[in-house]
Amino acid sequence: MGIDAGDAANLAPCTDHGRGCIVNYNDIFARAIDRLHEEGRYRVFIDILRNKGAFPNARCFAGHNGPKPITVWCSNDYLAMGQHPKVITAMEDALHDVGAGSGGTRNIGGNTHYHVDLEFELADLHGKEGALLFTSGYISNEATLGTLGKLLPNCIIYSDELNHASMIAGIRNSNCEKRVWRHNDLAHLEELLAADDPSAAKLIAFESVYSMDGDVAPIHAICDLAEKYNALTYCDEVHAVGMYGPRGGGITDRDEAASRVTIIEGTLGKAFGVMGGYIAADKNIIDVIRSYAPGFIFTTSLSPVLVAGVLASVRHLKSSSEERDAQQAAAAFLKQSFRDAGLPVMDSTTHIVPLMVGDPVRAKKISDILLAEYGVYVQPINFPTVPRGTERLRFTPGPSHTQDMMTELTQALSEIWERLALQKAA
Ligand SMILES: *Cc1c(COP(=O)(O)O)cnc(C)c1O
Repeated sequence: MGIDAGDAANLAPCTDHGRGCIVNYNDIFARAIDRLHEEGRYRVFIDILRNKGAFPNARCFAGHNGPKPITVWCSNDYLAMGQHPKVITAMEDALHDVGAGSGGTRNIGGNTHYHVDLEFELADLHGKEGALLFTSGYISNEATLGTLGKLLPNCIIYSDELNHASMIAGIRNSNCEKRVWRHNDLAHLEELLAADDPSAAKLIAFESVYSMDGDVAPIHAICDLAEKYNALTYCDEVHAVGMYGPRGGGITDRDEAASRVTIIEGTLGKAFGVMGGYIAADKNIIDVIRSYAPGFIFTTSLSPVLVAGVLASVRHLKSSSEERDAQQAAAAFLKQSFRDAGLPVMDSTTHIVPLMVGDPVRAKKISDILLAEYGVYVQPINFPTVPRGTERLRFTPGPSHTQDMMTELTQALSEIWERLALQKAA
């Protein structure tokens, strides 16, 4: 991902073992960083603290005198569950009851009652026989896809071209043959499936909500193809769990498709507001991943404090749609506000509000002005997270962003768009 082999390849082959042939490590690293600066996509992490109970307000530590108040517009804690009183209390209680860490891997010392309860709760959320926790969504994708691909003989994996880096890493690890289908293009997917040996094992991997464009996969139609060609399905619901469906089970919950998808994968760090990842599937699959996946086996399990917080969050969002409804209302308001101002808001059908800029230098510039002059924090999104030439700003308004805040944000962006002579929508 985003690593150019160019520099290494340009080095002349070494013919003796004299000084001239000694690898200059520092120079190689410095040149790699220089390339990012030249392209304008060197990443700078903002230094902030959120104010508990007052999200989206935060403090920014940017080197001047004392922290400066800012508003956060790009958090993936979509529903502010990371600050919910039930979550905070559950974590405090767990900390005082059982202490800080889990004490080891799930196999040796790190299997707590909180883990058992949460896996039960997540299996129920998706109507599956079982669930398995990982230390992050990234690891759950990488470990599960990598292991499945190794266990299934001659497996072919069909991967949507916009799949997340963690799925790509898992597929690469599996050493399976990989076919990339054009984003959400069912005809292309079927063409690829039909061209392969009918007796080969097959797995179709995709996301439900694509988090950079904000569009949604046609899950039922993908499952129709999977049935026709006898393939398994793997759906990354990271940006949908907690957010969609009457109980927050994701798009598969909303569209009543969960029973048709073989494996549902989710994160506990975005809408659920804490940390961790998981898969939900039938018992055999859970047992096989639990037993064979190195990324599950050989790492200390999540702290019980985190797991207790997630449990409270999942349970709350199963019975409350208030946060989801408020979040959807905020996203709709912000999209309309951007559209009315002629700002190039992308065609998202979900809670994500992306503004197309199309250039990494300009995206960074807009983001810098927003922070310095307006106290608005929105991180520019650049390659390799999105393709080159589609750099953007990605807004994720939540239930606590008020209409006044959104109107002010729209005014700020309009001013900046004019100041930088950027194109407005027709
Ligand atoms: C963020 C993300 C992940 C990784 O989840 P983490 O819990 O943050 O590791 C996986 N898939 C997608 C689509 C994501 O956006």
